[in-house]
Amino acid sequence: MAARRRIGLVGGTFDPPHVGHLALARAARDAWSLDEVRLVPTGRSWQKADAGASSAQRLAMTRLALDGVDASERLVVDDREVRRDGPTYTVETLRELRAELGAEPMLVLVLGSDQLRNLHTWHRWRELFGLAHLVATQRERVALDDLPAEVEAELAARGADALPDAPAGTIAFFRMPPVAVSATALRAQLARGERPAGLSPPAVLDYIETNGLYRRLQGT
Ligand code: ATP
Repeated sequence: MAARRRIGLVGGTFDPPHVGHLALARAARDAWSLDEVRLVPTGRSWQKADAGASSAQRLAMTRLALDGVDASERLVVDDREVRRDGPTYTVETLRELRAELGAEPMLVLVLGSDQLRNLHTWHRWRELFGLAHLVATQRERVALDDLPAEVEAELAARGADALPDAPAGTIAFFRMPPVAVSATALRAQLARGERPAGLSPPAVLDYIETNGLYRRLQGT
């Protein structure tokens, strides 16, 4: 029988996208033998204030971030959340993907430790495990231990060292070399008039410049 397809999903605001996002997607792909990793920019985020770019601009920048990336890397952009009206909930995105792809493939939701710590605040978050596996990695200075009690309880029930041959339901951890960049820090640099070469792909920095984005700090 053919191996079960493994599809990774990196959701985020990508406001703007940066090398940390690309490193996360590549590390997850390699750690979990993913056939493809989709970057999924959120529509209007219900949890984060708008920090300067519209959802259409964040989507355009996420596409540009993959401009120089070879197709053999199997990193792609999935624009469904930006196309959707109203708030974007990950659980809805996973339901849609299941409806499209069927029950068979593995869906693997990839999270940095900041998102894992926040997981219990997500809309209908416990339903995520019926739809996908969840893999998390440490992000600089954001611990992976001592998680909120609700998240620890799911981890006690679902934690494993490897992903079983199943479409969904497990939580596992993987390591990646730390990449010292966040969109928040990047926006602060851009607001100071710097061009943080090396922290975001050149095509993204060009787009930011051309469109006059992040000239002033707003939101969080
Ligand atoms: P902000 O600073 O605005 O909160 P961000 O840099 O955290 O933004 P997001 O778009 O919120 O970027 O992140 C999308 C995903 O990428 C999340 O799972 C987040 O944990 C992860 N991520 C972001 N930066 C890094 C990084 N430097 N290393 C590893 N993972 C990262």
